[in-house]
Amino acid sequence: MQFRDLKAQYKALKPQIDSAIQSVLDSSEYILGNQVATLEELLANYVGRKHCIACANGTDALQLALMAMGVGRGDAVFTSDFTYFASAGAASFLQAEVIFADIHERTFNLSPESLENAIQRVISDGKYLPKVIIPVDLFGLPADYSQIIPIAEKYNLKILEDGAQGFGGKIADKKACSFGDISITSFFPAKPLGCYGDGGAIFTDDDATAECLQSLRTQGRSKRNRYEHCQVGINSRLDTLQAAILLEKFKAFTEYELRDVNRAADWYTKRLEHAVKTPYVPNGYYSSWAQYTIRLQDMETRDRVQCALKEQGIPSMVYYPLALHQQKVYAGTEAEDTAYPHTLQAVKTVLSLPIHPYLKEEEADRIAKIVIDNI
Ligand SMILES: *Cc1c(COP(=O)(O)O)cnc(C)c1O
Repeated sequence: MQFRDLKAQYKALKPQIDSAIQSVLDSSEYILGNQVATLEELLANYVGRKHCIACANGTDALQLALMAMGVGRGDAVFTSDFTYFASAGAASFLQAEVIFADIHERTFNLSPESLENAIQRVISDGKYLPKVIIPVDLFGLPADYSQIIPIAEKYNLKILEDGAQGFGGKIADKKACSFGDISITSFFPAKPLGCYGDGGAIFTDDDATAECLQSLRTQGRSKRNRYEHCQVGINSRLDTLQAAILLEKFKAFTEYELRDVNRAADWYTKRLEHAVKTPYVPNGYYSSWAQYTIRLQDMETRDRVQCALKEQGIPSMVYYPLALHQQKVYAGTEAEDTAYPHTLQAVKTVLSLPIHPYLKEEEADRIAKIVIDNI
């Protein structure tokens, strides 16, 4: 069994994808071919934003967004203690100070209370200038923007939405990647909408920001002349091949994959909700299920369940085994363990089960039984 069955997906889409790839080879427009612009327009419309700027991967998308926001040395950037490294790493790479906040106990997403405490602490310390909040739409569930946006406004901070795992999710009718001043996503193969290599995208409604991002992804070149550089940028574009693949995958994503992955999550929840802590989706929220993450009683139980699954040939993952403040590169900065009780509980007890749109009900059934038999 596969953790995320990309082979089953390719099998279902093979004729379309093969011909999309062939048409790029025939055109020989490998860099910023017309498929890239078509995809950008399609994705911007889908999430409900004015601009989409595709780039090489989700980490670059975060970095480019922070560059466009003018983040650098002396600035404080706030993010969740429980996320993939890139959410924080992109800010550190630009020499900003990353300040971690704890998560909400049930959603795994940034806790508004902990965030506000962290902001007030930085303000009263006076060492760094609070600048940006990076909420993460972890495991496919949008963060609590109804509370995070007012905090950003109160302290005059910008929001950079890390929607790398969140594409396709929504709160009421408002889609993930539409909540930040700038929002990003990733097309890494295992993400909700993945390509066949690396890829990413940035979203914004602001014309000047969009123009700046377009320049930054092509070495800071000016709009009028490709060999004139008005700022220092990076080289981070989405390959035409990946854009062509994504155009085909996007159809499947919107036509049935998003629906089917939610169906798979429901199968698990129905079978597991009385036995373990299943993922919590607040009222009005819709997840794109980048992960289906349960919580076990303690670390021993978690490890026992994972071993039992492995013995039956079923892969499972611990996302994430370390809080970011425990990572070596962040140790000693804000590493007060008492400030992150929910993150510390999560790293010991979480387990992500196989989930993807091509999961079968019998498979969910079998996996749920093994979990229940081993708690
Ligand atoms: C995957 C991921 C990224 C980085 O995306 P890449 O395309 O792998 O660079 C950033 N943030 C989160 C939360 C992610 O899961």
